[in-house]
Amino acid sequence: MKELNLLYMYPDMLELYGDIGNIKVLQYRMRKRGLILNIDTYSIEDKAPDFYSYDIIFAGGGADNEQSILSKDLIKYKSFLKEAIDNGVFFLLICGAYQLFGKYYKGVDNNIIPGLEIFDYYTEAIPDRSKRCIGNIVIDVNLGDFTTKVIGFENHGGQTYNISSPFGKVLFGNGNKFGDTQEGFFLKNVIATYLHGPLLSKNPDLADYILHYCLKRKYNEEFELTKLDDTFENKCREQLLDRFLNIC
Ligand code: GLN
Repeated sequence: MKELNLLYMYPDMLELYGDIGNIKVLQYRMRKRGLILNIDTYSIEDKAPDFYSYDIIFAGGGADNEQSILSKDLIKYKSFLKEAIDNGVFFLLICGAYQLFGKYYKGVDNNIIPGLEIFDYYTEAIPDRSKRCIGNIVIDVNLGDFTTKVIGFENHGGQTYNISSPFGKVLFGNGNKFGDTQEGFFLKNVIATYLHGPLLSKNPDLADYILHYCLKRKYNEEFELTKLDDTFENKCREQLLDRFLNIC
C-alpha cells in the first residue's frame, strides 16, 4: 500500500487558525483512496529529524513571540532543510513559517528575528500594531497543468518584499503586503503562503496537487489520483467565490 511521510514542525508553537487542518485534509484524502499518510512531529528539544526521509514538511503560522523563540532552533537545521528542498521534498509553509524561510522578520519594535535565508525575500511589520492585513483572500494560482482560484484567510502584520516567484495573483484581499497584486512564494515543491483557512479544506485541488506531486516523486510512476466526491467542498467554494468575487 502506498504511503507518504509528513513532518509537522513546531506544532506547539506554529498552529494558528486551524493550520493543523491542512494535515488532516491530506490524511483524509489519502485514506479515502486507500493510501496512508504517516505523521511525525518535531519541536524544540526533540531529537533532530531526518528531514530528507520525509515526503512533506509542514509548518504553520505563529505570532512574533513564538517566531522569535523558535528561530534559533530552526536555523540549526538550515543546511538539512535546504538539502531537502533541493532534493524535491514538498514544503507547505503558512504565514509565520513562510516568513522564517526568508532572510528575516522585522517586528513592530524594529527587533530582527533572523530567518533561514533559504529564500531571498524578507518581511517587515508595519510599525503601527493596529495595522494588519486581515480578512478573506482569493488568489489565482497556476499549478502547471491547471489554474485554480485558491481561497483563504490572512492575518499578518508582516509585509513581505522581494518575491521572485509568487504563489498567486491577488483577486480579493491583500497578499504579501497591503494592496499587493502578489501573494506568497512558490517553487514546484515549495508553497509558502499567508493563507490560513485551513488552506487545504477550502482548496481540494491544491491538496491533490501536493499529494500527486509527492506520490509521483516517491513511487516514480505516472498515475492519476482517483477522483473524490468533492460536492460539498465545491458548493462551499461556489458560495465563497460568489461572495468575494461575484462569480461562480
Ligand atoms: N507574526 C507574523 C505577522 O503578524 C505572522 C502571523 C501569522 O502567522 N498569522 O506577520
